[in-house]
Order: sequence, then structure tokens, then C-alpha cells
Amino acid sequence: MKDLKSSNNNNNQEDKEQAAEKSSVNLNLKFALICSSIGIILGHLLRDFQQKAPIMIDSKDPSLFRGLNGLKEEYDLVIVGAGLSGAVIAERARNELGLSSLVIDKREHIGGNCYDYIDQHGIRVSLYGVHIFHTKFPRVENYVKQFSDWVPYHHRVVGRVRDQNNTEKIVPIPPNIDTVNILFDANIDTEDDMVRWLDERRPKSDKPPQNGEEMSISRVGTDLYEKIFKPYTRKQWDKWPADLDASVLARLPYRTNRDDKYFDDYFQALPRDGYTAIFEKMLLNNDEIDVRLNVDYFKVMEDLPKHKLLVFTGPIDAYFASQGLAKLEYRSIYFETEYLEPNGGFFQPAWVVNHPGGEYGWTRISEYKHAPNQPQGVEKLPGTIIYREYSSDVGDPYYPVPNPRNQELYSKYQKLATEEKGVTFVGRLASYKYFNMDQAILNALELFDKLKEEGKVTGKKKQ
Ligand code: UDP
Repeated sequence: MKDLKSSNNNNNQEDKEQAAEKSSVNLNLKFALICSSIGIILGHLLRDFQQKAPIMIDSKDPSLFRGLNGLKEEYDLVIVGAGLSGAVIAERARNELGLSSLVIDKREHIGGNCYDYIDQHGIRVSLYGVHIFHTKFPRVENYVKQFSDWVPYHHRVVGRVRDQNNTEKIVPIPPNIDTVNILFDANIDTEDDMVRWLDERRPKSDKPPQNGEEMSISRVGTDLYEKIFKPYTRKQWDKWPADLDASVLARLPYRTNRDDKYFDDYFQALPRDGYTAIFEKMLLNNDEIDVRLNVDYFKVMEDLPKHKLLVFTGPIDAYFASQGLAKLEYRSIYFETEYLEPNGGFFQPAWVVNHPGGEYGWTRISEYKHAPNQPQGVEKLPGTIIYREYSSDVGDPYYPVPNPRNQELYSKYQKLATEEKGVTFVGRLASYKYFNMDQAILNALELFDKLKEEGKVTGKKKQ
């Protein structure tokens, strides 16, 4: 019995030990499971963090993220928005007139849509899409040269477009002689031939084009319009070209020769160290400009330090939201990114490849590795990152949508803006204009001149 008991005991003991072992195995398993779940969650978080982390700019300077703490009691200017327009006004106010500015931005970085950074693969990428600097204004060229060395660069875009036999081809965009030869099996060699080819396809009219469709057909004729402009525009704007202002379709040139450059301006270049470095030079590390990020103007407007002038660079309809007018239309974009290690290290033949066809959800794919202002050695990396660009009506506003309805509505906002005391509106979103970077800079420089002339900003520095 004893034995039995003891054996029972022993058995019990064994059972207990086994149970303990089991439960410890279970515990271990659970622990391992929990650990691996935590691992997976952490992995996701880390990946998210890695994707998001680079947008923390100058993390060495925590003062950028201190809300409205640690500010001066009074500033000459409070500037809403740390993009191009806001940065130009703050920089000019300081360096021309010795004025102080508080610059706030709801995003967690300076630079607005020009913001770029080196990603986890070592490749310089732009968070809001490709930005190529080009200008025909010497004033703008001289201005930007103060803040960076510039790498000369002529942007060349190609499109993946179906030819007349429905076979996909890579062709130059804007369309030139080669585009027509490839897509339409033509045999054009001279400018005269090209003009003749276009003339056969574009209507003769003395009336100026009234909308995007008329503008495009008057320039490139119906065949190129149907293949390249109509479907791309539809995807980009969710509107047919006929429902857009003629100016939108006039942005892109067309060529009667073999020139395959995207832009015509005499100065075309990229900042050697990226755009963000320019904004750092303009805004950071000086006594007269304080920057606060992650600060939403509409949440802090009552608590701002005293200031003589508010410079608002956000969407004008958001500023006047309480006035009951309809909202202005903006177009947004978003990106799907993919890291690849293709043979030869590159995914596509050019930095930007447009995809006009309706069979693709995206408008274009950008491969930043092609950019000539990448950090040294990037072209030799095995990997590359591609950004598929989609157009959307939700998300941060990028583009005003130029058409008669929006222009008419904007003029109502503009009237409110002129009546608003102590505030000036500047920039792509506040002026509701489809500015390129250089136009935004020129506009801000000219607005600053006007503020000086009108005595709305006056210098502390001797001029
Ligand atoms: N566009 C087009 N097909 C193209 C490229 C441009 O139809 O392959 C038209 C389209 O309407 C677009 C406009 O031209 O909105 C201006 O193009 P751009 O490249 O200047 O646009 P952004 O770079 O400002 O987005």
C-alpha cells in the first residue's frame, strides 16, 4: 500500500512534475507566443517607425516640438506653414529687416511638400513626390543659390503608352518626333514634317481654347491627346480635360523636334543636399526665427504670442471656414512604395515614368535612385525604392483645381481675405494657384516687397 501509495504518491508526484513540466512548457509556449506576438507587433511598429522616423527633422533640436512653450512674448510675424512661402517670408523678414517670426506647422517637419530625407536604404526620397527645380526668373535663381549648391539637371520623363497596335511602348513625354514615330509608326524626321503631322490633326481656329481639352487638341492634335493627355488628366484630376481650365493642359510643352526635356526654363537644377537642407538654412539656428512643429493653427490661434502680422499659407477656405461659403476643391496624392532589388539595380529607365493608360491605377512611378543629387554611391546599391503615385480627393491638399466654378468661389474668399485685418495670405493653397516652386518663391518675394511698400512690415535694420 505504502508502495502503492508511494507509487501513487510517486505517480502523483510524477503527475505533478509532468503537470508542472507541461504547465511550464505551456507557460514557456505562452511566453514564447506572447514574446513572438510582441515581437511581431514591435516589428510592425518598428517598420512603421522606420518608415515614419525619417520625417523627424533635426531631432537633436527638441525645441521644434515644444508646442507653444519657450516662446518670446511677442513676434513681428506669426507665419502659419513652414513650406516655401512661409520660409521665404520668415527669411526675408529676418535678413532684410531684422524682424522676428514664429513659424508654426501642423506637420512634424519643415519644408512643406518639398520635404525630402534619406530613407532607411540610404536613398534620398521626397515624401510628397518628385520636385524638380526650374525657373526662368533670375531673381528666383539668385535667391535660391544663397541656400544651396545646385546640380544642373534636365528632367526627362518617359511614358508607358500603347501604340496604334495596342502594344505598350516607352516614349518621350512631352511628345516629340520620336513619340509620334514610335506610337503611330510614322517616319518623321524634320520639324516641318512634324508640324505637318500635327496640323493634320489639330483644328484651325482663331478662338482661344476655352478649356483643357481644346487647349490640348489645339497643341498636339487628337491622336496624341487621346493616348497621352485625356486618360492621364482624368486619373490625375478625376475630371475630363473639358472640365478643367485650359492652363492645366498648357503646363506641359510639346516639341516639333527631338528635344526630350520636360521643362523649357533656362535654370534647371537640384539642390546638392536636397530641399530640406535649404529650409534648415532658411529657418533654423538663428535668434530671430522660432519654429514649432506639430502645431495646428486652428487649435492654438487664441494662445499665440502677440504679433503684428499673421502670414497664413494654408488653404484659404479653411481659414474662413466659419463664413459659410462652399469648400474649395483640392486634389491630393498618395504613394505606394516598394523596395526591390532588380537586375542591374534599377527598376525603370527614368526617374519618372508616366502611365497615362486607364488600366493602371497610378499616374506615374518615380524611382529616386536616378536623381543626380543622391548621396555618393547610391547608384551602386543593389536595391531601389519605387513610388507609385495615385491621385485622390481625400488627404492633404496638394493641387488647387483650376476651373470656372472654383475660380469664382475663390474670388469670394479673396474678397474676405482683403477685408481681413492683420493677416496676409500667400502661397499655393492660400492663393489657390497651381504654382511651381519658383512661382511660389517669386510670389512670396513680391508679396514681401508689397508688405514693405505698404508699411505693413517695417525694418529694425538700417536699409
Ligand atoms: N499631363 C498629361 N499626361 C502626362 C503628363 C501631364 O495629360 O503624361 C497633363 C495633366 O493634365 C497634368 C498636366 O498635364 O495635370 C500638368 O502636368 P505636370 O507634370 O506639370 O503636373 P505636376 O507635376 O504639377 O503634377
